[in-house]
Amino acid sequence: MTKIEWADKTINPIVGCSKVSRACDLCYAADVAFNIEHVLTKDGNAKPRANYEGVSRKDKDGRPNWTSRVNYDPAVLQRLSPGQAPKRFFVNSMSDFFHPKVKLEWLQEIFAQFARCPQHTFLVLTKRPENALKLADKLDWGANIWMGCTVEDANDEVIKRVDHLRFIPAARRFISAEPLTADVASKLDLTGIDWVITGGETAPKNAPNSIKAQVRPMDPAHVLALRDLCARAKVKFFFKQWGVFAENGVRRGRAKHGEGLGGKVYHQWPESAEKSADDLYAVAWSESAEGGVKLRLVTPNWLGHGTSNKSYDGREISAWMADNGVKNRLGNARKGMAFLEPNEAFFFKMRFA
Ligand code: SF4
Repeated sequence: MTKIEWADKTINPIVGCSKVSRACDLCYAADVAFNIEHVLTKDGNAKPRANYEGVSRKDKDGRPNWTSRVNYDPAVLQRLSPGQAPKRFFVNSMSDFFHPKVKLEWLQEIFAQFARCPQHTFLVLTKRPENALKLADKLDWGANIWMGCTVEDANDEVIKRVDHLRFIPAARRFISAEPLTADVASKLDLTGIDWVITGGETAPKNAPNSIKAQVRPMDPAHVLALRDLCARAKVKFFFKQWGVFAENGVRRGRAKHGEGLGGKVYHQWPESAEKSADDLYAVAWSESAEGGVKLRLVTPNWLGHGTSNKSYDGREISAWMADNGVKNRLGNARKGMAFLEPNEAFFFKMRFA
């Protein structure tokens, strides 16, 4: 089991990371890794774990941190098998799946194992979706892989992560706005996003009090704005927990805070990919040289470009149906994924929202 409210279990074939933005300041995973690598094994109380070797250290101020070494342990994947009862797995809670030191071969091996277990759902979270997008066409995005990125802050660099995420051809795309440290909703475009999770900050359990004191309270107005944005965009919203500071701003322990937001629990989930395979839409377009519209299309299982001969009136395209050879490939794509050649021309009917 995991304490993460939006997953049943975690699986960590990769361990190790390095900090990338404010959300990493009090990284709980570095704290856990330090405990496993250096504390639990002290005096022979526990056996050292090879996949944790050399990954963690402490900063001069006692803050748990990573060394930036990243270890891959394929044996962890053997814990997954096709006969198991369906579970939601948070993938790599002890790393960043798309850390620059993670090798493409590792990712391909991991995704292949996910494909062998279609009953499970695998939730992959990264703070580096730009790396994920670069590798996207080399990975087999099964319908049971959901891809998310962290958006904890409202600065341009962090908000831009969503622009990379929406072009990743995962079955479902989600944002983890945790720890929520700013008015993210005021900058967020939820086009192509299925789910938003949010929550407050917690302190690394084994850090000195001077580090624990750095936990930031979450502004209830920022949470409510995010909830309302999701409601307007028809995006599922999951409020996880308040963190160290309660809804009224009082600092206490996380366990006492519950999951309520204004007295209501928001635990919404997107439907599984299979239930909405027809949910096709375009997320970006521009006029093409031929006088039509060049579209970048994203569906739960499919990503491509095309040139339309249909008129374009500026409204959002909510659905389309290919009416030439592409249709066959689309049929296949519903079971997995297919790519069209960039700028490949084809005809299709469009329905506008
Ligand atoms: S990306 Fe995640 S695991 Fe890596 S340092 Fe940041 S919070 Fe920690």
